[in-house]
Amino acid sequence: MSNFVIPEPPQAAIPVLAGQGAFPVRRVYCIGRNYAAHAVEMGHDPDREPPFFFQKAPDALDASGRFPYPVMSRDVHHEAELLVALASGGRDIAEADALGHVWGYGLALDMTRRDLQGVAKAAGRPWEVGKSFEHSAPVGPLSPVSEVGHPQDGAITLSVNGEIRQSGDLNQMIWKVPEIIAHLSRYYTLAAGDVILTGTPAGVGPVQRGDVMELRCDPFSPLLVEVV
Ligand code: MN
Repeated sequence: MSNFVIPEPPQAAIPVLAGQGAFPVRRVYCIGRNYAAHAVEMGHDPDREPPFFFQKAPDALDASGRFPYPVMSRDVHHEAELLVALASGGRDIAEADALGHVWGYGLALDMTRRDLQGVAKAAGRPWEVGKSFEHSAPVGPLSPVSEVGHPQDGAITLSVNGEIRQSGDLNQMIWKVPEIIAHLSRYYTLAAGDVILTGTPAGVGPVQRGDVMELRCDPFSPLLVEVV
């Protein structure tokens, strides 16, 4: 019996493919500007600068297939990303050991209140309100490494109402998954339940209520999300 003084909040979790349970989530890390063409479209140099990270609140993960248009924004953008889920963690993880900590992979959207992010950037403030808000991380079911291995290349595309908006290849990541894990583990103690959104290819843009986003990346089943 717990001694919590209020009812315990729900544990954030992502469903596992084919009803094989759920993956409990501790933290959600996201890497910025990890595809050169996206860095350029956002007005930045595509050179290999050290990676940088932000977090979303774990309860922003939403596997319902519905994305409620958020409050306080008129310019919400899609960012299609590969998600990495960790079964274990630690500090100062070597690149060579990094993939051994991965439980599985999935697809996610890093939905962004671009107008609020722009104001924050211009003012030198944190991106928090632009990135971490309720329902801001639509996510598909996870697949374990035993089924999908460690995807390192292959097309990743996002279409809106059937029209392709984002198109890239996982092999275009500036920082690869082992490097991302190694870098992150120098700044944070990683742990089981941590997930990482690995950045988005070029073509980010706005969505409106009624739009249907479809994120595709083999071997995962497509992630369909309706803006409501
Ligand atoms: Mn992103």
